[in-house]
Amino acid sequence: MKTLEVNKTSQNGVHSNGVSSNGKSTAVKLAYIDNKPFEIKEGETILSFIRRHEGKDLVPTLCDAPNLEPFGSCRVCSVDVALQEDGAVKTQASCHTPVMQGSYIYPSSDRIQKLRKNIIELVLTDHPLDCLTCEVNNNCELQEVAAKVGVRTVRYPEGKNHLDRKKDLSHPYMTSDLSKCINCFRCVRACDEVQGQFVLSMAGRGFDSHIIKSSNSTFKESDCVSCGACAQACPTSAISDVFESKSIARAETTRTVCTYCGVGCNLEVATVGGKVKSIQAPYDAEVNEGHTCLKGRYAFSFYNHPDRLQTPFIRKNGELVPASWDEAYDYIVNELTRIKKDFGPDAIGGISSARCTNEENYLMQKFIRAVIGTNNIDACARVCHSPTAIGMQRTFGTGAATNSVVDLKFTDCIMVIGANPTDGHPVTGAKLKQFAMKKPSIVIDPRRTEMAKYATIHLQLRPGTNVAMLNMLLYYIIKEHLEDKDFIELRTEGYEDFKQSILKLDVDEMERITGVDRELARKAAILYASAKNAMSFHGLGVTEHSQGTFTVMLIADLAMITGNIGRRGVGVNPLRGQNNVQGTADMGCQPYQGAGYLDVTNPEMHKIYEDFYKAKLPLHVGLKIPQMYKAALDHKFKALWLMGEDVAQTDPNTHHVVAALKELDLLVVQEIFMTETAKLAHVVLPAASFLEKSGTFTNGERRIQRVQQVVEPLKGTKSDGQMIVDVMNRMGYAQADYDPKTLLEEIAKIVPFFAGVKWDELGENGKQWPVLPDGSDTEILHVDTFKRGKGKFAYHDFRESEELLQNGKSFPYIITTNRELEHYNAGTMTRRTKNAEILSEDVLMINPEDAAKHQITEGDMVCVESARGKIDVRARITDEVLPGILSSTFHFPEIRMNDITSSVSDSEAMCPEYKVVAVNIRKSKGKYKV
Ligand code: SF4
Repeated sequence: MKTLEVNKTSQNGVHSNGVSSNGKSTAVKLAYIDNKPFEIKEGETILSFIRRHEGKDLVPTLCDAPNLEPFGSCRVCSVDVALQEDGAVKTQASCHTPVMQGSYIYPSSDRIQKLRKNIIELVLTDHPLDCLTCEVNNNCELQEVAAKVGVRTVRYPEGKNHLDRKKDLSHPYMTSDLSKCINCFRCVRACDEVQGQFVLSMAGRGFDSHIIKSSNSTFKESDCVSCGACAQACPTSAISDVFESKSIARAETTRTVCTYCGVGCNLEVATVGGKVKSIQAPYDAEVNEGHTCLKGRYAFSFYNHPDRLQTPFIRKNGELVPASWDEAYDYIVNELTRIKKDFGPDAIGGISSARCTNEENYLMQKFIRAVIGTNNIDACARVCHSPTAIGMQRTFGTGAATNSVVDLKFTDCIMVIGANPTDGHPVTGAKLKQFAMKKPSIVIDPRRTEMAKYATIHLQLRPGTNVAMLNMLLYYIIKEHLEDKDFIELRTEGYEDFKQSILKLDVDEMERITGVDRELARKAAILYASAKNAMSFHGLGVTEHSQGTFTVMLIADLAMITGNIGRRGVGVNPLRGQNNVQGTADMGCQPYQGAGYLDVTNPEMHKIYEDFYKAKLPLHVGLKIPQMYKAALDHKFKALWLMGEDVAQTDPNTHHVVAALKELDLLVVQEIFMTETAKLAHVVLPAASFLEKSGTFTNGERRIQRVQQVVEPLKGTKSDGQMIVDVMNRMGYAQADYDPKTLLEEIAKIVPFFAGVKWDELGENGKQWPVLPDGSDTEILHVDTFKRGKGKFAYHDFRESEELLQNGKSFPYIITTNRELEHYNAGTMTRRTKNAEILSEDVLMINPEDAAKHQITEGDMVCVESARGKIDVRARITDEVLPGILSSTFHFPEIRMNDITSSVSDSEAMCPEYKVVAVNIRKSKGKYKV
């Protein structure tokens, strides 16, 4: 091995001659590219070695892709390799061959260039040469490689080809023209390795090899989940989409963040003539690594849908009529001023939105607190993850994910509880599914979800019994002596009392309550506790219960008792429902904590806020959303400002919510569409969508990412932030125009964990809070100590839900709600895209035994009745649910699911119990479906 000058390797004090600054030998491993020495990195392939040192263009590839495992099928990346200088060379596919120390690599020898040219010529014998009319002309990898290797003519006869293959245009989004296929397997591998769906495969042999979808069907008939991973991976136009995402007509691209779920995928949005053409996933995005689900990639056409609101409306003589911005603002300011004067500031409140940016949420709470003078500010987190924030704050001191999704690479076991991530959080769901296919996993869920089908152990408990289930796991961990005694001793408090309470549990009773066999529970406890590193993920199946906060605290206890906190591959990781639900809470949109979670009733912190906002602020907590409704019905609460929430559809017990909204003197709604809630408003303000404004969203891993304006706001609309600023100024509070950069500067001064956040320094992948003043961020929380000092163990007894205690006898079935991949919440956006063609109806999942009992057959309408009301839903008979349990989605408001849900809520956070509703069923004629 030569120790000549080493190129491009002067790092960490290592001299380029392989001697460190302290004179010791550094034993740098080298290999040679065209006889020049370069340093090798551990585990590197020849291709990655060459690309790292000589750039990505030196070696062309076809079957290689940034987010796929090396495959070595096309051989275009072949290079010559000798084991010693002037030694015999051997041709090797560089993409999957590890680089060997001391080897001599010749990436562009004459021999290699001839070989590559020959390979491409052979590929072209079976490829149409209609480039000029091809969708990917000038952006085709085959075309690029052909040009690079110098193909001008094809020396081989045309022979038999596959040009007669029919195009598949069956699907609303996905397309294929397999005459363009070059058998590189990239689509097959993307479907397997990225999404884990296994829809695509290669059939036939030799020249007859061809891609098939499921068992040789069309995209539409197949099990495709429309994620578009195959289309993005395809190097030609063999698989593409209706937006022609790989067309060179993509004039301009802007990187932004998805508006749907809390995964926070980065999107690269292409525009032509000021209109969105298509969306792709950037490969360098740390969150989604070149992947999205069908919502992020394809469900964007709502943004310029004809239904978009483009003018303010004011209610006059009972009707909403178009108005100018001045008229709308005057109306709002006059009414707010009157109500404040007549009834005091606490008669007014605001509900902020996880759909909006951090900066807009910050402004909303500032407006309500500093301008109106009340703490009546809440947000939709109340109806989803508020128990997570409270539960984790009580146990750890911080109500946010302890780790990041990337930690899946470092964990040995996962526990997914009350979450259906392949539908609700699809990109993280795909990663969890991939994990579960290879390593131990536990799923705790009343439904046999897709994750449950892959899990090592599925604990299929009765809905509402999470506390009993987790207590059972904790019981067996203690009984089996699997606690991490050192961690408990050093890092926690309250353990002895906790342990005694757990050991007093009656396992017979827990088994009866949960419906889960004790032996299975014991095995799950052992699996989780004996893994070197174990991670938990939880969703709304944990929080939307009357014991939601206590369940979160027990999940945290489970992590602490096994020492699974404070390092890579462990922790408690809530899967956040909405895109910016984390940020909404961080910005202070809750009635008891201001921006940065400071207690608004603590005089010291109260003073900090008063000095900062230069305003007189209340020292008492405000109303949570359910309390606002109650106060409205009691005529004590007169005005509500709603930013981007359709509570009349999404909050439980619709009759109660609508009745409360109708009692208000003033209901202001900022919206992009005329939702059911907007129809009840006194003033409706037309808002800009996420593609039309800038700001930041914080994803479920505490990652603050830049949302960047892609297109001009639709005529007549304004950003939610600007509307609030306009009203603040009209009410006498000087606030600069909405600008994320300056607002982040303001936020950084009041939110301690945003101290070092600067718009210009967030970069492409954002930063995970806490961000220190020097700009460094934090991947893992509670490494040496918890935010509250010691982690606090707290025991909680199982309590049956009031809903079942009161109504269980008359309504013997339990219905639990869930989500489908294709739609998002009330479907306001996704139903205005072609997603509605893929999934057009909510269904009721019902066990075959129950269906038979009620003479219900597949597709029948079923009347589901609770103590609050009746709805009709179409039956889907499935053993995914156990007898006595029903499950339904709520994406299509016409079924009015929330007519039957209850007002029971979590005892601590007041998060509604959507997941346990006592009902009865019978076959119906569908008259309750509107
Ligand atoms: Fe958007 Fe979530 Fe899908 Fe990612 S997983 S593309 S954030 S909806």
